[in-house]
Amino acid sequence: MHHQLSEQHEMIRESVRRFAEKEIAPHAERLWEEEAFPYSIWKQAGELGFTGLPYPEAYGGGGGDWLGFTIVLEEIARVDCAVAVSLMANSTAASLLANYGTHEQKQRYLRPILDGSQVGCIGLTEPNAGSDAANIQTRAVLRDGRWLINGSKTFISNSGSEVTGPVVIAAVTGTRPDGRKEISNFIVPDGTPGFTYGKKLRKIGWRGSTTFELFFEDCAVPADHLLGEMGAGLKQTLAQVSTGRILIGSLALGILQGSLERSLRYMKERSAFGKLLAEFQALQFKVADMATHAHAARLMLYDAAARKDAGQRFDQQASMAKLFATEKAMEAAHQAIQIHGGNGVMTEYPVSRAFGDAKVLEIVEGTSEIQRMIISRELLR
Ligand SMILES: Cc1cc2nc3c(=O)[nH]c(=O)nc-3n(C[C@H](O)[C@H](O)[C@H](O)COP(=O)(O)OP(=O)(O)OC[C@H]3O[C@@H](n4cnc5c(N)ncnc54)[C@H](O)[C@@H]3O)c2cc1C
Repeated sequence: MHHQLSEQHEMIRESVRRFAEKEIAPHAERLWEEEAFPYSIWKQAGELGFTGLPYPEAYGGGGGDWLGFTIVLEEIARVDCAVAVSLMANSTAASLLANYGTHEQKQRYLRPILDGSQVGCIGLTEPNAGSDAANIQTRAVLRDGRWLINGSKTFISNSGSEVTGPVVIAAVTGTRPDGRKEISNFIVPDGTPGFTYGKKLRKIGWRGSTTFELFFEDCAVPADHLLGEMGAGLKQTLAQVSTGRILIGSLALGILQGSLERSLRYMKERSAFGKLLAEFQALQFKVADMATHAHAARLMLYDAAARKDAGQRFDQQASMAKLFATEKAMEAAHQAIQIHGGNGVMTEYPVSRAFGDAKVLEIVEGTSEIQRMIISRELLR
């Protein structure tokens, strides 16, 4: 699929790689240790046009394509997954605003999350509704011209940072004739009275990306903060999920590539029993597998992204690419630690930090089990 990469895609790769190695790599360990959101890096990514690359120029985006954005995430995650996660989560909020927002909503809430002055979040998951997203409990009631929101969300990426802006949350607004919940999306700006944060969640991966619990207690937003049609919330969010799977797969590909390159470097430097590690066949086979998986994951992801850019169906390809890339990234992170021996479990070594990052990828945007359900359902249809 490399023949599909234009000169412009190669230029994107080059400029993101330069940015990631110069501006992110030197801070990656500190961000991991401090579990800090990289505000200054985020701003720079915005100035370089990475935060809004595939979004309309009319609202501050770059007017680029999704294949280009896939490359951006791959290259950033090759160096540090957490920064790439922030771009990915921001992009899901941006897609909802871009696809369903009014002109005013886009000016006010989309523009700042595309140009890097703010970061957006999406709040769907609740303590009792993750994979089973239709089971959310948070409610919104229209009272005196304002939506009154009550409930809670958990595991929300990009929340609680100093530049967090709009949070797009899903809430129950009624009951459908068939008895199912009617769910709508709302824009809740950070700082709205009645919207508070619970504890900052501490994680084994994605540590530089902030994750909080959100609480809504009689949190009132104006009537025009409903996003799109009433009752279309779950449909809107699920329509972004396949794109999100390409993006999570790109993060996995970055981890695969990073694990491979670090392993190769280490094997050429470190000796045991009077030989370089590179001379041991047991380790040679591990890097051969990593390179093979990275190549296959890249083809699958670029294919899914190119299909999206061409306006073709891509959900099945996105699920397969996400499933394959994330599981192979987990395997690569595991084997890269093995190749590094004791050093591999020291957190100053990026291969150790990639281990937790890879694990999260198998869970978010539809777990591996959910991807297998989707893929097999389509096969058996
Ligand atoms: C670091 C992090 C960041 C996140 N960021 C966000 C965010 O920004 N916004 C947001 O809304 N959410 C976010 N999430 C939530 C994420 O999307 C959910 O964790 C994910 O959807 C899984 O839901 P769950 O944790 O409730 O697990 P569950 O749904 O409880 O699943 C538990 C296990 O059961 C399995 N399982 C569930 N249903 C089935 C089934 N039908 N058949 C077979 N197996 C099944 C799952 O595969 C899994 O192995 C984040 C999560 C993490 C960890």
